[in-house]
Amino acid sequence: MTLDANMPLQEINGRIAAVRKRLGKDLVILAHYYQNINIVRAADFVGDSLQLAQSASRQTDAKYIVFCAVSFMAEMARMLCQPHQKVFHPDLAAKCPLAEMAVISDVERAWEFLKGTGRRVIPVVYVNSRADLKAFCGKNGGFVCTSANAGKAMDFVLSQGAVPLFFPDENLGRNTAHTLGIKDDEMFLWEPYTDMPKTDPSPIAGKKVILWRGFCYVHVAFKPSDIDDVKRTHGNDIKIIVHPECVPAVVQRSDYVGSTSFIKSTVEAAPPGSRWAIGTEINFVNRLRDDHPDKLIVPLKEWGCREMARVTPLRFLEVLENIVNGKPQPEVAVDPDHAKYAKIALERMLAIT
Ligand code: SF4
Repeated sequence: MTLDANMPLQEINGRIAAVRKRLGKDLVILAHYYQNINIVRAADFVGDSLQLAQSASRQTDAKYIVFCAVSFMAEMARMLCQPHQKVFHPDLAAKCPLAEMAVISDVERAWEFLKGTGRRVIPVVYVNSRADLKAFCGKNGGFVCTSANAGKAMDFVLSQGAVPLFFPDENLGRNTAHTLGIKDDEMFLWEPYTDMPKTDPSPIAGKKVILWRGFCYVHVAFKPSDIDDVKRTHGNDIKIIVHPECVPAVVQRSDYVGSTSFIKSTVEAAPPGSRWAIGTEINFVNRLRDDHPDKLIVPLKEWGCREMARVTPLRFLEVLENIVNGKPQPEVAVDPDHAKYAKIALERMLAIT
């Protein structure tokens, strides 16, 4: 059923509350930190991608899981929850552009080449990726990782004497490798859009990490000059905290770097009167500011994720009322073969976190 696009927000929120009450424990709503405040308020669990993946795997009682985030996260919930459960997403077209920067044919091409170099390579795919890439990792001894546990995953691969093929986010891979003491000249950047070495293994020789050229357009928008601007406005002692998808030049000038949940817990634990400039998605920063009026919290720059914003309160209500009306959709489906192997890579991730 298509709802009136001009429905007042108050009515939307009232109808969301009514559906929640009616479905009770049959319904669980999971929402990412970057979601609209009206959706976050209605959610049972709010978290970053790792927390939501863990939460999805524990929701064994609910019949319906409504997942508000970009669509790959809902796919993860589908893979981790029970077969009898149904997972819905308010807008399956909400695809993360970073996740689209690695496609299976390009990754397989890279893999074939890397196997031919004689090095032991283990694939590590960032959770912001398609299900078939997670399955690729499951089939090839690899991992899924999130921004919260990329260091653990990369460290584990290195401890096996292997080279991580880390994709698709170059900046997360590079920043993570830096924290493990790996230098830029010890990393090889795979360029999926150009003709890569077909037979000559020498560019890979001696490299400790292989990265993939992909990026999050939200986080690469933060520049070192934004840090200059915020310090000019708020003083040099304001703390800068950013997400590891930011470029290294920003990460290296920041006081703290970490996943969205790390940013949240760090700022929450800080004393009243402390001052923070945060480099991540604006919905999240605004909510943190509103929840902590005793601290100064400003965005490093006002920058939002368009794809996360596709999940509007109206679309969210629509998917909830579709369940109540007996026509539940849009339902999230994952190819069973992809699900089988992706789950292996996801479970390897959950085992090291
Ligand atoms: S913030 Fe970046 S990584 Fe996250 S969903 Fe948006 S584009 Fe993808």
